Order: sequence, then C-alpha cells, then structure tokens
Amino acid sequence: MPRSISILGATGSIGASTLDLVRRNRDAWHVGALTANASAAELARLAREFEADVAVVADERHLPALREALAGSSIEAGGGAQALTEAACRPVDLTVAAIVGCAGLRPTMAAIRQGRTVALANKEALVSAGEVMLAAVRRNGTTLLPMDSEHNAIFQCLAGNALEDVAMITLTASGGPLREWDAQAIARATVAEAVAHPNWDMGAKISVDSATMMNKGLELIEAYHLFPVGLERLRIIVHPQSVIHSMVEYRDGSTLAQLGPSDMRVPIASCLAWPRRMDAPCEPLDLAGIGALTFFQPDEQRFPATRLARGALEEGGCAPAVLNAANEVAVAAFLAGQITFTQICDIVEETLSRSDRSPLPCDLDGVLLVDAAARRTAHAIMEQRQA
Ligand code: NDP
Repeated sequence: MPRSISILGATGSIGASTLDLVRRNRDAWHVGALTANASAAELARLAREFEADVAVVADERHLPALREALAGSSIEAGGGAQALTEAACRPVDLTVAAIVGCAGLRPTMAAIRQGRTVALANKEALVSAGEVMLAAVRRNGTTLLPMDSEHNAIFQCLAGNALEDVAMITLTASGGPLREWDAQAIARATVAEAVAHPNWDMGAKISVDSATMMNKGLELIEAYHLFPVGLERLRIIVHPQSVIHSMVEYRDGSTLAQLGPSDMRVPIASCLAWPRRMDAPCEPLDLAGIGALTFFQPDEQRFPATRLARGALEEGGCAPAVLNAANEVAVAAFLAGQITFTQICDIVEETLSRSDRSPLPCDLDGVLLVDAAARRTAHAIMEQRQA
C-alpha cells in the first residue's frame, strides 16, 4: 500500500527536495495536497505530475490561474486561507510543513490536530507558537519529526537515549556567506552577497537568515522546544564545512554526531522513511577529500542575531514570537532593497525593546495577534528610520 503525503509549501526549496524523493519512489506514495502561495503554474505542473488530489494557492488572487492550469484534470483547485487549512487537514500519513514564515503556523497547526505525522521544516511556526504547538502535539498524539537538518541530526543522535543523560546539545552553524567579513563590509552586504550561501541551496528568506545568523537563533529556539534539556545545555558552534549537522554530548563523555552531505534530501529522507531508512540520491561523504573539520565560537559582535534569540528565550512569553515577526518584516525589507543588512538585527532588537512583556497567549489566534502586533511595530520603526 502506498503511503499518503501532503506538502505545504510544495513549490519551495524544501518542497522541491521532498518531491524529488517522492518522484524516485513513485509507487510508494500517494500525494494528497500540494500547496503554494502564488506560484500557480508551478503548483499545477507538480499537481499534474504527482496526480495530487488537491492543489491550493494561499493567495486567492491566483486561484483563477490555478483553475485554468488544472482544467481537464480531476485535481481539485483551492485558494485562500480556509482552503489552505482544509488542505492541511487531509487525513494523510505524513504532512510536510514547508511553508516559509509564520504564514505556515495555522496550516501546520491544522495538520498537527489530525493526530498523524508532521515533518516540520517551517521553523518560524514553532518559534512563534512554542508551547502552543507542542501542547497540540501532545493533545492529539501527533508524531512531530524535525526536518531542519540540525534538529533532524539531534533527533537521530538522541535515538535510544534519555534526555536526562544529555550534557550538551551543540547546534552547528556554517557561519553563512559573510562569516569572514569585517563589520564595515557586512554593513554594505548586498542581497546577492547575502543569499550566496557557501554550502546550502535554499529559499531567499532562510538564506538571508543564514547570513545574519538569525537562522541559528531561530534554530536555538526550535531546539529549546523540541529537545527540552534547558537553555544552559544548548550551544551553537560555527563549523564552516557543514559536515557535522549537530551533536549530542552525554554525561559519560560520549559525543554522538550526525554527519552527511549538505543536501536537504538527507534529513528529508530520514523523515519520509522514519523509523526506517531509504535510499537518497546524494554523493556519499568524502571525508578524506574534505580533509579537515574546523570549529569556532560564534562572533556575536559582528552577528548579534544569536544573542537576540537567546535573550528572547530567556525573557520568554511573547519575545520569541516578536523576534520572529520582526525578523520576517526586516528580511523582507532587506530583500526589497529598503534597508541595509545590519539594519535587519537593529530592527529586531528595537521591536523587542518596544514590545510588552506579556506571557504568550495559550491559543493559536492569540499567538497570531502577537505576531501581527510585532509586525506593525517593526514597520513603524522602519518608517521612523526612513523619515
Ligand atoms: P521557499 O521560499 O523556497 O518556499 C516557501 C514555500 O512556501 C513556497 O511553496 C511558497 O509558495 C510558500 N509560501 C510562501 N509564502 C506563503 C504564504 N504566505 N502562505 C502560504 N504559502 C506560502 O522556502 P524554503 O523551502 O527554503 O523554506 C521553507 C521552510 O523550511 C522555512 O521555514 C525554512 O526556514 C525551512 N527550512 C528550509 C531549508 C532549506 O534548505 N531550504 C532548510 C531547513 C529549514 P510560492 O512558491 O507560491 O511563493
């Protein structure tokens, strides 16, 4: 019997890598829902190729184009927020949550509420909703598989062990394309320079997050929720080769690490086949060719994002959701050429300082209100700076 899969964010980088694995094991999978935001033509092409049951564009303005592209097929077309949530509710064996940003929170929560298996790439959703998402996972008996490469590595290193025995979890960071730049050069970094990641081929938002190191900050918060060992047992280390994807040190002095090529199809394959393994079309690691693995402490002077993320975790309450929302606004503004690279973290820091210190609401709508308020604050800060 084929297993069924839905992919939220099918037209993105994670979506493409997931569908590549599905394509290579076509008989093993039935595709339920595929979703996008606006890429109607690409979504329709994928839906036809994979004979999906339903294709949904979140931005309803693109529904006519999707309908037209699917004309003559039996694939159901949908558009808008409600259709996206309904697509996420389809009773499939595995839902891949790969929408970028907090826009993925509501559909990811809808998938979690089905009580099946959700593979989570959409880190911003967990950063924003934190305990609200994990409570839904527990309440519904959902299996949450970490798809982010670092968290998937930690998940693998923890298998068969108890969290109480963990001495330290180390998230590795490539350091991004600006790792060796001085502060003046970083301040002048262009969009093209910021998205030119040395090791990974990813969507634009996460590429900028990697350049600022906010990606590692978001991952620190993600790890805090997924692997509850406490913030004092989580650390970040820069490892430019991106060969070790993360490590877990145990109290007996053993450190387990997961190594692999810098190809998201490795952690995605781990989620698709879990708890077994499957073939992935990646070159095996050539350790002798790589030669040396190096490690450095993060430099939080030049890259303050990890300090901001740790501060938000320590503050708790709404702070991680505010950090994420402000970062999304600032990264979008940077990509649109409206602010400089270093202003991204400045805007996040100022938004955090202006936000109230309330506890995180305990429901999804409350979290989304916090997200919306933080976005308004971040926009207001940008407008004041430009005035
Ligand atoms: P992309 O930008 O490549 O793709 C994003 C996907 O989300 C697209 O399908 C896009 O549709 C859809 N989307 C965008 N905005 C919305 C919206 N408002 N509502 C509904 N759907 C939307 O992102 P990535 O694939 O790079 O990243 C996806 C997630 O996975 C992110 O959270 C990222 O942090 C995480 N991740 C990514 C990794 C990578 O290697 N790329 C590695 C680890 C984690 P459309 O095409 O129409 O815009």
